[in-house]
Amino acid sequence: MTDIIDDSICPLCQQSNRCGVQASAGCWCMTTTVPAELLAKTPEKQKNKSCICQACIENYYQTFEKSVHRTTQ
Ligand SMILES: [Zn+2]
Repeated sequence: MTDIIDDSICPLCQQSNRCGVQASAGCWCMTTTVPAELLAKTPEKQKNKSCICQACIENYYQTFEKSVHRTTQ
């Protein structure tokens, strides 16, 4: 039984999200807009609990930008 939610693990890739919300300097995730599509992929019970990691967000934007270039050029 592993019903305990580990909020240091990214819900999408199961890697450490290295969230720094509890650090005095704050976390990068507070200044980053998490794409709605990634939020939609986040399991309901982990929403607003576990941060999506920076790698997943960058991955999303890279894929997104590629698709934008493909349609505009
Ligand atoms: Zn991730």
